[in-house]
Amino acid sequence: MKAARDGSPTAQPLLGVANVSKTFGGGRWLLGARRAAVRAVDDVSFELWPGETLGLVGETGSGKSTLGRLVLRLVEPTSGHITFSGEEITGLSAAEVRRRRGAFQMVFQDPFGSLDPRMSVGALIAEPMVVHGVSRAQIPGRTEAIMRLVGLDPRSANSYPHEFSGGQRQRIGIARAMVLTPKLLVLDEPVSALDVSIQAQILNLLMEIQQRTGVAYLFIAHDLAVVRHVSHRVAVMYLGRIVELADRDLLYGSPRHPYTVSLLSAVPVANPATERERRRIPLHGEISSGTAIPSGCRFHPRCARARLIASRGAIPTGDYGAEKLPLACLQQEPPLAPIEPGHRAACHFDSGSQADMVPGPLT
Ligand code: SF4
Repeated sequence: MKAARDGSPTAQPLLGVANVSKTFGGGRWLLGARRAAVRAVDDVSFELWPGETLGLVGETGSGKSTLGRLVLRLVEPTSGHITFSGEEITGLSAAEVRRRRGAFQMVFQDPFGSLDPRMSVGALIAEPMVVHGVSRAQIPGRTEAIMRLVGLDPRSANSYPHEFSGGQRQRIGIARAMVLTPKLLVLDEPVSALDVSIQAQILNLLMEIQQRTGVAYLFIAHDLAVVRHVSHRVAVMYLGRIVELADRDLLYGSPRHPYTVSLLSAVPVANPATERERRRIPLHGEISSGTAIPSGCRFHPRCARARLIASRGAIPTGDYGAEKLPLACLQQEPPLAPIEPGHRAACHFDSGSQADMVPGPLT
């Protein structure tokens, strides 16, 4: 038995993702040429508890948006299992998923793109209720209540999306997603198109809504400062895999995977004195393509720790171009393994020592 975020006991996670993979493409084109398969998500497992926010971070191409769509069944998994409130949803038909759609919803990055400009705001917010058969008598009252919840003036229900600012349009998007009182929202870069001051307002609104309703969030973003602000736990994705998953303060206070360490070393800090003391740990090169996942640990082409450990000369190494890297990094995919309570990471050489983290010069 585990406590949900509101303190009530709960025996099962709201969302269970077990060994889920998604490969796009593959097979052959009409004229027989082979079509490259893209492994967008590769054997991912995690749980999300009622009322919790799990942040999902990683570079473009890490698979985080595809994973968000997989858990909502907007994209079909190639393999693996997804449960929602204890029910396996992986095998449900499209019609069965539609009937449950009110319980798990998505908020997109671009609220304007997902809103029909010909519909008034009131009609846009009411639309999910109409689709899901909420009685006509209830719709005006629920529309007004949800507009108040997201900080919109109900008197603006007859206005159109173009009459609203970017932040207000995102409030409309959140209202549409929340109007059926879902248990889970997947938020895909919900504030990345907004000014910084507006971002803070929307993030605070999301946290307030969570406290009032108990909704859980899978919060996808590339901005680590934003994710830190809203998340209880954070998962870091690299090339389709979760490489580190930890309670928020553990991940930001003592990151253990070299990819996380590099990402965090690039986040600006407010204090210039601290900034001078920090070391940037650069990533080697670009993220690989999903059509050519490196063998062994998929992070080895970019890993500063692997190069540092190989340079010490105490372990078997192999060739990576003109470089030497640990043989284990070149040959074996490390599992996402527990390293302390509330903290898992996928690395063969996690010693917990900062000496294994800081190979680069001061920048
Ligand atoms: Fe780096 Fe090797 Fe650890 Fe992968 S297993 S993160 S390549 S040190």
